[in-house]
Amino acid sequence: AATEPDADRRAYAVWVSEIMLQQTQVATVIDYYNRWMQKWPTLQALAQASLEEVNELWAGLGYYSRGKRLQEAARKVVSELAGRMPRTAEDLQKLLPGVGRYTAGAIASISYGQATGVVDGNVIRVLCRLRCIGADSSSPAVIDRLWDMANVLVDRSRPGDFNQALMELGATVCTPKAPLCGECPVKQHCQAWRRVEKELAFTSQKLFGKPAPVPDVEDCGVGGCPLCPPAAEPWNSTLGVTNFPRKAAKKQPRAAGTATCVLERRGCHGALEYLIVQRPSSGLLAGLWEFPSLPLAQGLQEEKQREVLADHLQAWMGWPVVAKDLRLIGEVVHIFSHIHQTYVVYSLPLDGDVTLDPALSPSRWVTEEEFYASAVSTAMKKV
Ligand code: SF4
Repeated sequence: AATEPDADRRAYAVWVSEIMLQQTQVATVIDYYNRWMQKWPTLQALAQASLEEVNELWAGLGYYSRGKRLQEAARKVVSELAGRMPRTAEDLQKLLPGVGRYTAGAIASISYGQATGVVDGNVIRVLCRLRCIGADSSSPAVIDRLWDMANVLVDRSRPGDFNQALMELGATVCTPKAPLCGECPVKQHCQAWRRVEKELAFTSQKLFGKPAPVPDVEDCGVGGCPLCPPAAEPWNSTLGVTNFPRKAAKKQPRAAGTATCVLERRGCHGALEYLIVQRPSSGLLAGLWEFPSLPLAQGLQEEKQREVLADHLQAWMGWPVVAKDLRLIGEVVHIFSHIHQTYVVYSLPLDGDVTLDPALSPSRWVTEEEFYASAVSTAMKKV
């Protein structure tokens, strides 16, 4: 950002990186980011791309709607905002689809030097520890307070560097399970660390037979404070600073089953080809390509699975498919953020040409190489 004089290009570059980094690790993103910026170095270039191209480049990065929304927003900037990126966090959030409070704050502080804070998972952890915030860190009361804190703390002269440093502190020093408090540059300001130090001092005093000190009222959650640990779950000495942040129990992902059939044929050049079909343009994995698939009702026996899959394929191809010809290959499990998906994989070799009903979703035959270059999800690559 420091070396790009054009504010729109700067904001675009930061925006792409921030969207890719949502839910995905830096190491994975770097290669995707470089390829993306090479292909679409400006908003204008991205606005002209097709969704198919975007999905192809995004394939394997997960959470596919991010790429789609990024491209929709780029089109909006070009067509409705004369190619000029909004210049404040408030406008970025208001005007760009897919840009939330965090992304808006990151773009505005890093690209334009606006003194506005950011709150992501790393910042939540650092701030909750710094201030012993023990209430559920996903509750609106805590989140609002953390945003207030981030906005007050942010360095007025170098907000982008400050925000990145705070996130980096959480990622490298104040880590979830084994924070390196001894090396932490902000330990003198950290209430959780002080509390641990105080407990250590009390323990050694006790060892030497000195009287136990009076508890410090600042340490306890008396008075129904909305930010303190709930009375039912007080400070646990064995956890030290990792007492914070506290989270409400995560919802278990829902289990789902899908029958998938890899249809294969010999192409005109003798190479094996596979049929892929396009998913609907909204919902999970929107617009991506997959082997013909069908959601399965829970507890369906193998025999019944074959029958429903054969019926489904028959409707596609317009000629009879015999259930027992489907060869069971095995199962593939893929975890989406909220779904524990099991694909039951079948295969069916075909002789001769198959004409698919064009009224159904788009479909095409691809070689193995073409399959990998297509906009297909990681789950389908596993299949
Ligand atoms: Fe995190 Fe420890 Fe630093 Fe506090 S002292 S901010 S708990 S690493």
